[in-house]
Amino acid sequence: MKIGFIGLGNMGAPMAANLVKAGHEVTGFDLAAPMPEGVTRAGSAAEAAKGQDVVITMLPNGAILRAVAEEVIPVMEKGAVLCDCSTVDVDSARAVAEQAGAAGLGALDAPVSGGVGGAAAGTLTFMVGGGDAAFATVKPLFDIMGQKAVHCGASGAGQAAKICNNMILGVTMIATCEAFALADKLGLDRGKMFDVVSTSSGQSWSMNTYCPAPGVGPTSPADNDYKPGFAAELMLKDLRLSQQAAEAVDADTPMGQRAAALYETFVEREDGRGRDFSAMLPRFEKRGREN
Ligand code: NAD
Repeated sequence: MKIGFIGLGNMGAPMAANLVKAGHEVTGFDLAAPMPEGVTRAGSAAEAAKGQDVVITMLPNGAILRAVAEEVIPVMEKGAVLCDCSTVDVDSARAVAEQAGAAGLGALDAPVSGGVGGAAAGTLTFMVGGGDAAFATVKPLFDIMGQKAVHCGASGAGQAAKICNNMILGVTMIATCEAFALADKLGLDRGKMFDVVSTSSGQSWSMNTYCPAPGVGPTSPADNDYKPGFAAELMLKDLRLSQQAAEAVDADTPMGQRAAALYETFVEREDGRGRDFSAMLPRFEKRGREN
C-alpha cells in the first residue's frame, strides 16, 4: 500500500519503520523528527498525504490533529482513508471524521496502547472507531504495527475506549501505590503483599504486570529507578481527556477526577514529570496522612 505518515516521534517512527519492513511504501512528514530508514521525507503534511491509499497521523493532541487534517483532507483522493492513531479528545476525533467523510474519505480514530516498546515490537493494541470499509482497508496495517485491533464502533469509539481504559489504569495504579505505602507502615512485607494481592480480589494489571514496588513481582519501571515506561505526564494527559469527555456527557467519575487531580499535583507541583506513572509509590511513601 502507499502510505502517508505524519508525526514520526517516539511512537510514530517505529510504527512507520515496521510498515516499511513489511514492504509498504511510506512517505513521512514531521516538523522536527528525523525519518526512520526507508521512509521518504515529504516537505509538508499535504505532500506526504497526496495520492496515498492510507494516511496515518501520530500527533501530540487534538488541536494539532485538526490543523493537520485541514491541510491533508483536501489533497487526499476519494476512497482513501485518514487513520489517526494519536490519543486526542473525542470531539476532535469526531470532527475530523466528519470533515473526512464530507470529502469522500474514510476516517478512523485508532489510538493505541502498548507504548514505545509495543510500537517498536509491532505489538500495539489498536482501539478503533469508524466505518466497516475503512476498518477493513487499514486492518492489514494494524496487523503489522500491532497484535490486536478492536473495532469498537462508530467515529470516536476508539478514543472513548482508550480514555476509559486509561482512567481505570490511573485509578488502579494510585490504589495499588497507596496500598503498598499503607502496608509498609503496617509492617507488612512487600513481597507477601504482592503474593496475596496478585492472586486475590485486589489484583489488577497495575499490581500483577506492572508492579510499582521495586524488586517485587515481574520486572517493571520500578526496577529501573522509575524511568518510563509510561510517563506520569502522559497519564495526566489521558486522565484530563477522560474528565473533559465526562464533563461533555455529564458522567459522574469521582475516582477519575481524583486521579487526574493527583497526577496533576505530581507532575506540575512535585517531581513526577519525566518519571514513570508508577512513581506514585515513592510519592506516597514519603507522605503522612495530613500532607
Ligand atoms: P512525540 O511528541 O514523540 O511525537 C509527536 C510528533 O509529532 C513529534 O515528532 C512532532 O515533531 C510531530 N508533530 C507535531 N506537530 C506536527 C505537525 N503539525 N506536523 C507534523 N508533525 C508534527 O509523541 P509520541 O510519544 O510519539 O506520542 C504520539 C501520540 O501517541 C500522542 O497522542 C500520545 O498521547 C500517544 N501515545 C503515546 C504513547 C507513549 O508511550 N509515548 C502511548 C500511547 C499513546
